[in-house]
Amino acid sequence: MPDCIVIGGGVIGLLTARALWQAGMDVTVIERGCLGGESSWAGGGIVSPLYPWRYNDAINLLAEHSKQLYPDLVASLHSDSGIDCELLNSGMLYTDMDEWAAAEDWAKRWRHPVEVIESRSALEVIEPALHPDIRRAIWMPDVYQVRNPRLVQALHGSLLASGIHCLEHTEVIEILRSGGGVSGVCTARQSLHAKKVVVASGAWSANVMRGLANIAVQPVKGQMLMFKGEPGRVRTMVLSRGHYIIPRRDGHVLAGSTLENVGFDKQITAGARQTLSADACALVPELADMPIERHWSGLRPGTESGIPYICTHPEIEGLYIHAGHYRNGIVLGPASAQLMAEIVCGENTFCDASAYTIAADH
Ligand SMILES: Cc1cc2nc3c(=O)[nH]c(=O)nc-3n(C[C@H](O)[C@H](O)[C@H](O)COP(=O)(O)OP(=O)(O)OC[C@H]3O[C@@H](n4cnc5c(N)ncnc54)[C@H](O)[C@@H]3O)c2cc1C
Repeated sequence: MPDCIVIGGGVIGLLTARALWQAGMDVTVIERGCLGGESSWAGGGIVSPLYPWRYNDAINLLAEHSKQLYPDLVASLHSDSGIDCELLNSGMLYTDMDEWAAAEDWAKRWRHPVEVIESRSALEVIEPALHPDIRRAIWMPDVYQVRNPRLVQALHGSLLASGIHCLEHTEVIEILRSGGGVSGVCTARQSLHAKKVVVASGAWSANVMRGLANIAVQPVKGQMLMFKGEPGRVRTMVLSRGHYIIPRRDGHVLAGSTLENVGFDKQITAGARQTLSADACALVPELADMPIERHWSGLRPGTESGIPYICTHPEIEGLYIHAGHYRNGIVLGPASAQLMAEIVCGENTFCDASAYTIAADH
């Protein structure tokens, strides 16, 4: 019998399982589909909230801590799994100049370099492929990206190397209770027993928690395109009015993303393809000559404020919730998993965890 069962094998469940294992626990991950096959695969992998100054401290605090953890995490996953997650410092150009005052305040407070680039020649040094009509932008040189599909593969490899059990294609249909606490979970095939259960089921977490607690996690669909380019043609991430491009090391360029409240519908649409493509080409015109190799969607685990649940159930002993990371699960993941593991293990937490409880505003 494991010490702890984690329901959901996205980046949040996998990072949690790894952190619990590192704390000495025997852990089993149960995943309905393939590990990392949902939002964690579909995301863009920007290791920063899109406009961090728009977010609450509860999010910035986790984001900042994660940024510190990422280099060692990626190195350790590489050594465990042989997979390079491609953590790249590509920097981010923001064309939304009306955000400058807020961006500058935020950067001072969290000690990040930021500047306004006001000449076309200086912009061309940073990103030669940028549309010639763009003449001013906010430049944040220390924004990283990680190749999230590789991150989940590397996490899987690391878990396997550690002997952590991962059950794929296994849906949890009920959380089992005994007395005032949990006693395990029930899947279609079997019951599995454990004294601790972490719900890390992404956009489906409210369903998994049904009858146990109301948590305000809802699916928010995001569509994304991938252009096939040559390595080095586009270098930096660029963000404009909520839409962005992310150049990968191998020349692929991602363009994202939509925000759609359409329940669990994951269909991709011609309208989104057109809008995302047009917005991406308005940032980097040569994308118009690159074929769109792939178009996909994913369901973000949305909460109103973007603040995730990282907490214990107030009444049911041994039940924990780790969900609702919305647009920022990749960036928040490492810090969030550390906090969850500290709570599960009953240790002192590295930050005040009250903002992430069921009772807090989400
Ligand atoms: C288009 C798009 C772009 C994004 N870009 C970024 C970005 O640039 N940076 C960033 O930080 N974040 C980004 N995100 C958000 C990020 O991807 C998510 O916040 C993160 O992946 C959430 O991880 P998760 O593990 O909670 O959810 P998921 O990856 O969805 O994992 C949850 C898992 O739980 C499983 N599950 C559900 N119910 C059950 C059950 N009953 N039994 C067993 N298993 C179950 C599911 O099958 C799923 O695999 C983006 C998301 C999208 C869609």
